[in-house]
Amino acid sequence: MARDTGPQCKQCRREGQKLFLKGERCLTDKCGVERRSYPPGEHGRGRLKQSEYRVQLREKQKARRYYGVLERQFHGYYVKASRQPGITGENLLALLESRLDNVLVRLGFAASRRQGRQLIRHGHWTVNGRRVNIPSYQVRPGDVIAIKADTPATQVVRDATELTGQIPAWLQADHESLTAKVLRKPERREVAAPVQEQLIVELYSK
Ligand code: SF4
Repeated sequence: MARDTGPQCKQCRREGQKLFLKGERCLTDKCGVERRSYPPGEHGRGRLKQSEYRVQLREKQKARRYYGVLERQFHGYYVKASRQPGITGENLLALLESRLDNVLVRLGFAASRRQGRQLIRHGHWTVNGRRVNIPSYQVRPGDVIAIKADTPATQVVRDATELTGQIPAWLQADHESLTAKVLRKPERREVAAPVQEQLIVELYSK
């Protein structure tokens, strides 16, 4: 599966806010947004024309970058969310939030989604006892997530747990045994993503 390999700090600068894509570095004064708080590129400091379309587009791009999802897959999530019962925007965020790479970050088992993605691709994690190497894997209530026995990545994961903030209530983590359980689906108020999902729905509904 393709992935975005572009410079991450530029992505934050483009969206004008910290998206915390680099783990520990984001908490230091080396953060790109702290150092250069204007968009990248030759015209980065120029005046920007604001339009409804631009605001909606930027919100969608921000969500894509925050979760590390490419355009085609992101649109696939929107289509799936729009077919589910309930509010499309909230369904969309629940789908993105339930990706295994994001769940590792929320649990404190990865410092960033990119790191979580790499740990999964390299086969260091199991779900319900079976190895899963697909970062977009959708976790479900009742799933048990665990690090693979005797994996060399254990120290990296333990280091990441030191950066952990609050674990959302829909997840339960044990940082000693490096295991976790999905208790239920995430609710909108529990999704910490800096995204106004309604703007994304408006953009795709045009
Ligand atoms: Fe974004 Fe982190 Fe880079 Fe700061 S250090 S600009 S939060 S990726």
